[in-house]
Amino acid sequence: MKKLQLTTKIFIGLALGIVLGIILQPNPDFANNYIKPFGTLFLNLIKLVIVPLVFSSLVVGACSMDDVRKLGRIGGKTVAYYMLTTAFAVTIGLILANVTNVGGGFSIPVDANVPIPETPNVIDTLLNIIPSNPLKALVDGNMLQIIAFALIIGAGIIGIGEKGKILFNFFDSFAEVMYKIIAVIMQFAPIGVFALITPVVAVNGPGVLLPLLKLIIVVYAGCALHAILVYSSTVNIFAKISPLQFFKGVAPAMVFAYTTASSSATLPINMKRCEENLGASKSICSFVLPLGATINMDGTAIYQGICAFFIAQVYGIELPLSAQLTIILTATLASIGTAGVPGAGMIMLGMVLQSVGLPIEGIALIAGVDRILDMMRTMINITGDAACTVIVAATEGELDRSVYEKSSKVA
Ligand code: ASP
Repeated sequence: MKKLQLTTKIFIGLALGIVLGIILQPNPDFANNYIKPFGTLFLNLIKLVIVPLVFSSLVVGACSMDDVRKLGRIGGKTVAYYMLTTAFAVTIGLILANVTNVGGGFSIPVDANVPIPETPNVIDTLLNIIPSNPLKALVDGNMLQIIAFALIIGAGIIGIGEKGKILFNFFDSFAEVMYKIIAVIMQFAPIGVFALITPVVAVNGPGVLLPLLKLIIVVYAGCALHAILVYSSTVNIFAKISPLQFFKGVAPAMVFAYTTASSSATLPINMKRCEENLGASKSICSFVLPLGATINMDGTAIYQGICAFFIAQVYGIELPLSAQLTIILTATLASIGTAGVPGAGMIMLGMVLQSVGLPIEGIALIAGVDRILDMMRTMINITGDAACTVIVAATEGELDRSVYEKSSKVA
């Protein structure tokens, strides 16, 4: 076992977890009571480092841009890629939903026990990006606000030149400490992945999945299509990397995202992969990835588009083109406001439904299988972050292509 690479061990953990989950299906309580806690413990360990990591690495990332103009340029490229691909993602989702008639012929009893979450509106989501109390943002773990605060501090450090060096070195060293802690936590990833997937499989046996199978298939197909169409082609065109090399490099992070259903939890492993396997410079990684883990959620956008359409169909409500265009806009914004934690996309789906007058209660329809959808959308979310990272790195001349010769050995 000692000689196995961590990635292989994570895959083994995943496979064993699925097998045990199937075995435990008649008795899911066992999985929930005795196996899930280890997964929760693992996630707690990761969560412990997320806020300090995102904050310090984004300050360092922003500072490493040398001057505010470079920060603006890279920030512009990053945000443009994130926004365009997300809008494209919802569009793919809606087209697929239309073509496959995803909710047609369904009448599923609504589970009255599922609480309908309160959803913020678009304006509040945008206004809340700038924290009036940055310390509260850090304490609450409000990622968008933490990002805004980190970027402002970073820009300030660049602004004062030499005098800012001390603060830069502090955050740089702080971020390094976080990386070190993460490297140790990651050694437990195979066990964590195993403990997380087992209860999911045990609880969501085929019985629950069947009525909503079509929805699951369409969301999975939309995500796969998006990865193939958008990430393969943009990585190939703008970074001159073969799609195969790209997906191979990011695969461990994808598996991790699939099992944890959390972009934030996957951030550390994605950073490592983008740097070591894909050759993006540290400063680009520490800027583009934490930003992406919070604001770039293509998988979530696909899911929101398809689910909105699905819910409309199940309730027998027509969605004219104008309403579908509104969905593209609100799902893009909703996915930006979605936190990189399990289940967040379902809460933000309420915002999308509200924008076109669909019943929020529709969320209860999909709540039972949300975890299965969440795993896939999270995997796509973090793959989009990695694609953007290599593209920005390549266009800035900060992509070390030599890693591609040895990448097979590093994985
Ligand atoms: N779980 C997703 C993520 O962390 C967010 C979502 O629920 O859509 O990326």
